[in-house]
Amino acid sequence: MSIQVFGIQVSRGVAIGRAVLVASSRVDVAHYYIGADQVASEIERLRLARNAVAEELQALKADMPPEAPHELAALLDVHLMLLHDEMVITATKNWVRDRHYNAEWALSAQLEVLARQFDEMEDAYLRERKADVEQVVERLLRELSRLAAEAAPGGAAGNGASVVAAAPAARDFAGEDPLVLVAADVAPADMLQFKRSVFTGFITDVGGRTSHTAIVARSMDIPAVVGAREASRLIRQDDWVVIDGDAGVVVVNPSPIVLEEYRFRQRQSELERARLSRLRHTPAVTLDGQAVELLANIELPGDAAAALEAGAVGVGLFRTEFLFMNRGGALPGEDEQFEAYRAAVAAMQGMPVTIRTVDVGADKPLDRAGDGRHDHGLNPALGLRAIRWSLAEPGMFRQQLRAMLRAAVFGPVRILVPMVAHVSEMVAIHEALARARQQLDDGGKRHGPVTLGAMIEVPAAAVMIERFLRQFDFVSVGTNDLIQYTLAIDRADESVSHLYDPWHPAVLALLRQVIAASVAHGKPVSVCGEMAGDAAFTEVLLAFGLRSFSMHPSCVAEIKQRVLRADTRQLEALGRLALDAESPASAVRAALAGAREK
Ligand code: PEP
Ligand code: MG
Repeated sequence: MSIQVFGIQVSRGVAIGRAVLVASSRVDVAHYYIGADQVASEIERLRLARNAVAEELQALKADMPPEAPHELAALLDVHLMLLHDEMVITATKNWVRDRHYNAEWALSAQLEVLARQFDEMEDAYLRERKADVEQVVERLLRELSRLAAEAAPGGAAGNGASVVAAAPAARDFAGEDPLVLVAADVAPADMLQFKRSVFTGFITDVGGRTSHTAIVARSMDIPAVVGAREASRLIRQDDWVVIDGDAGVVVVNPSPIVLEEYRFRQRQSELERARLSRLRHTPAVTLDGQAVELLANIELPGDAAAALEAGAVGVGLFRTEFLFMNRGGALPGEDEQFEAYRAAVAAMQGMPVTIRTVDVGADKPLDRAGDGRHDHGLNPALGLRAIRWSLAEPGMFRQQLRAMLRAAVFGPVRILVPMVAHVSEMVAIHEALARARQQLDDGGKRHGPVTLGAMIEVPAAAVMIERFLRQFDFVSVGTNDLIQYTLAIDRADESVSHLYDPWHPAVLALLRQVIAASVAHGKPVSVCGEMAGDAAFTEVLLAFGLRSFSMHPSCVAEIKQRVLRADTRQLEALGRLALDAESPASAVRAALAGAREK
């Protein structure tokens, strides 16, 4: 039966594929296709893992002290039985044989099928047996991970994360069905891991449009819907699903007619992309000759290639926190960071790279299971996040600054600091930078010139923009957080996402004020939040005086097209309209449509 699930659109376009349901706790399981010639060896891997787990369970049983409760031995018997159960093992082998899933993926796919069946059982006792299946699968996954680590060069024992790292890069899956990932939730760092994966679309139950999971999904430039609430419950493993990224709708098991319509739209949007990509080398200049800087937002140094490919003229935001995540509490050292920043700087071939100091906290925890360093508290978005954390760990902060200063030897670097709101923070940032320079000098290490900027993303910063402009070389407006903090709407919470409104007059007024003050002081100002890459705002931002936009590489072409068609002399009235209209979104849309018709 065909059903529709409604969510929040994250990135545009249409994806059609089979659903792969992944439990949030198991998103780090490697997902890759094996070749037809590897099916037998993959099944052998499963067999070895099963035998090893069976031995482990037998040994546990044998070592059980006589005084141990009888239930424990019975439980081990259940687990041993499950290890040989058709629904666990044979069905898993079928995923390998029929779909060419790797063993870990096949196991977790089958676990999702079984978990659903258990959830639907009437009998409470039987329903609880789900936990037993989960435990058995968990043991098997651990064993597979151990086997993979043993087989890998060096043979180091690994955890779940190393399995991902050791997994072959996504194979060309021509001939296989395209796949879309369905999960209740995916942490931003885990999302990042899917950048090189087999999935052609994403659906999550939770999240808002500017949650970091959504931002990473958007950076992959594949259709995604978040905040789809019941999706992971309503969609079943292997269902056919259509992700309509434009409308934020998911169609499950579409009828042939609906499917055909979506295939048509998919082709149309591919043609449109191809057309836009021809603008890659065209300079972004308005009809009246105003040059506009279109920069890229990146998460990892490797993303610089996409930035160049898209025709960005620099990096306006390198979110370095992704280098810090999922490392089990260990942080990247100075040299490791230096290499990452240098790689981005070198890749951009002399164009500026804006590297932001670490912004963990809120919906970007360091580690999936809590990091021990951060107690997230009741209001994580208002807690120890971004510069607050950096200043709480001054050694870590200076280490990051030193790595950035060293990378500046290889090309122009701008250092950007997130979430600054207090004068004391400004002073501390300058002191830390001066000390980091001094430390490099003392150690005889080369470093290059940098400019220092602040994100304007807390309303307090926007209100006291004049002071920021005196203290910093440039500013960059983080609209994602500026909206969140101005309107008191958690950007990651789908239940209030309807109130997360970039068109809110207070947001627009703050934006205009920041841009106007920066222009008046002759200080560079950019917008690097999602609004910069949203074509609905291009003319309004130009009208406010903005000439520098930073966005996902995939948005550059569309925004450039808007810039090329704009005439800033005629946009003044539009800026006023946006600020004064009852309903700015529709007023601006109507005014732009009217202007186009003339
Ligand atoms: C922002 O807040 O707009 C921004 C660009 O930073 P982040 O999304 O990483 O918080
Ligand atoms: Mg921010």
